[in-house]
Amino acid sequence: MKIYYEHDADLGFIQGKKVAVLGFGSQGHAHALNLRDSGVDVRVGLRPGSRSAARAEAAGLRALPTPEAVREADVVMVLLPDETQGKVYREEIEPNLKEGAALAFAHGFNVHFGQIRPRRDLDVWMVAPKGPGHLVRSEYQRGSGVPALVAVHQDASGSAFPTALAYAKAIGAARAGVIPTTFKDETETDLFGEQAVLCGGLTRLIQAGFETLVEAGYPPEMAYFETVHEVKLIVDLIYEAGLRGMRYSISNTAEYGDYTRGDLAVPLEETKRRMREILRQVQTGEFAREWMLENQAGQPVLEAGRKRWGAHPIEEVGARLRAMMPFLRARVLEEVG
Ligand code: NDP
Ligand code: MG
Ligand code: MG
Repeated sequence: MKIYYEHDADLGFIQGKKVAVLGFGSQGHAHALNLRDSGVDVRVGLRPGSRSAARAEAAGLRALPTPEAVREADVVMVLLPDETQGKVYREEIEPNLKEGAALAFAHGFNVHFGQIRPRRDLDVWMVAPKGPGHLVRSEYQRGSGVPALVAVHQDASGSAFPTALAYAKAIGAARAGVIPTTFKDETETDLFGEQAVLCGGLTRLIQAGFETLVEAGYPPEMAYFETVHEVKLIVDLIYEAGLRGMRYSISNTAEYGDYTRGDLAVPLEETKRRMREILRQVQTGEFAREWMLENQAGQPVLEAGRKRWGAHPIEEVGARLRAMMPFLRARVLEEVG
């Protein structure tokens, strides 16, 4: 597989163009600010009077109502919540989009599952950073980047791929590596990864460890440091040096416990059997249908989940301990507190 780096991408494909970034959330703020700092002509499309519009203006960007931003643009990057994109596309994007413009995404969900069926005259491509937006911004600022996937769904102009690559370079992704893929593969691997490992899997592993210690009578503060706080320190080692590098860095005692007890906590074959079921529901579109119904119903399961998991004791002890670590503040989302 060819991985693209800075020298493979020509910023010329994006620098002459007017780019509209729709949304100023996790990904939106990072793309818009990185593009601007890379010398790209960027405006942000938002709901007038929204909190995001105020934040974009405070960051020194031009914030316009979505239809106006789209009308000006040669490239429209859609960084709205996935569940809103279909409606906003039909009502505010497509009717205002220039003939032959490029429509871009950071996730293939809506195109792959048929919620957006783009006009034939458009280029349609994706630059999907493999990391949260706040890292896309902070890594760019320190001269590095978050890797990204690129894919072309429709190439009306004949230059969709080099333009996507130039966009990836402008947000800093080509410093880390840009991997070519398809909308289908990006969508399926992204959904699987967040459900099985990154979000669903990891939070359950942390929670199980925390609860086991607390239920056995250990102080929650100790349980928090051991099963939550330290995760980052271990993951940082894996990020920099792989699993083997992490295992090199930990004590021999920890390494022996890893090899001999890890399977007791997470039985490998059984876990894979369950993960294949998660993957099947993603591939068949079962998950996508369920998520769209959830949105038609006003997100009741999402709301219930936020209430239930947000009230877990791990949150109370965590908030208290993090408040004692002021060095954490700089990298935490202001709105989470
Ligand atoms: P967020 O929820 O963080 O941000 C959404 C933004 O869209 C906000 O600025 C919000 O503004 C605005 N918005 C919401 N509804 C509308 C609307 N109807 N009209 C105009 N603006 C609206 O989104 P994310 O950054 O998490 O996700 C954006 C895309 O990036 C998705 O496709 C996602 O899959 C993808 N992605 C996200 C990652 C992440 O790190 N979060 C990682 C990789 C890809 P306001 O409510 O203030 O009006
Ligand atoms: Mg995702
Ligand atoms: Mg230890």
